[in-house]
Amino acid sequence: MISEDELSRYKRQIMIFGEEGQEKLKNAKIFVAGAGGLGSPVLYYLAAAGVGTLVVADRDKIELSNLNRQILHRSADIGYEKVFSARDKLTALNPEIEVITFDGTIDSSSAERIVGDADGIVDAMDNFATRYVLNETAVDKSIPLFHGAVRGFHGQATTIVPGETGCLSCLFPNAAPAEVSPVLGTTPAIIGSIQANEVIKYLTGRGRLLTNRLFIWDGLEAESTIMPFAKNPKCTVCAGRK
Ligand SMILES: [Zn+2]
Repeated sequence: MISEDELSRYKRQIMIFGEEGQEKLKNAKIFVAGAGGLGSPVLYYLAAAGVGTLVVADRDKIELSNLNRQILHRSADIGYEKVFSARDKLTALNPEIEVITFDGTIDSSSAERIVGDADGIVDAMDNFATRYVLNETAVDKSIPLFHGAVRGFHGQATTIVPGETGCLSCLFPNAAPAEVSPVLGTTPAIIGSIQANEVIKYLTGRGRLLTNRLFIWDGLEAESTIMPFAKNPKCTVCAGRK
């Protein structure tokens, strides 16, 4: 049930998708991998919209060099675990939601357990090794993966619905090399907002998802392009699976 306070808090979006849509958000659990540049806008907007349970996973502590883009965290938070900083900010923004933290590494031995019974996974990571683990977990559990990645002024996003669309390995069979890449804060702000928008569309059943399409953002030219892609029948992760 939606309380009087919640009716007021979410009034302007209930005008879009009704109390029924708000209930769907409230009853949802979303796993967000990463509380950094992409995770900050994703988590802020999902918390503000009233997604009932957010599971935040990150193994890092806050460093000074994070603060040009990781807007969940503040100068006074340096040295503090990102997941606890995230929990503090998100529950201050919206005490109606629950924030569950996982302060550790996401790998093939932990992913199944920490994703648990989540309704979707947001890829707010900065490396492909973890992205592939998230992709396999999403395919195994048959839950969507909301992918985002950024570099400099450039970013990309896509929504993967296992069984219906190509997966991350269909799109990128080979990992980009791990590196410390340049990032301007506005790039993850744009891409993370698209990921959060996709999660809200998926949960409320509104609009057309960014499926089988890679959204590519060029912030220097202020241009976006859409690259269509399809399921790879020889994909090592999703071929032959529901
Ligand atoms: Zn695949």
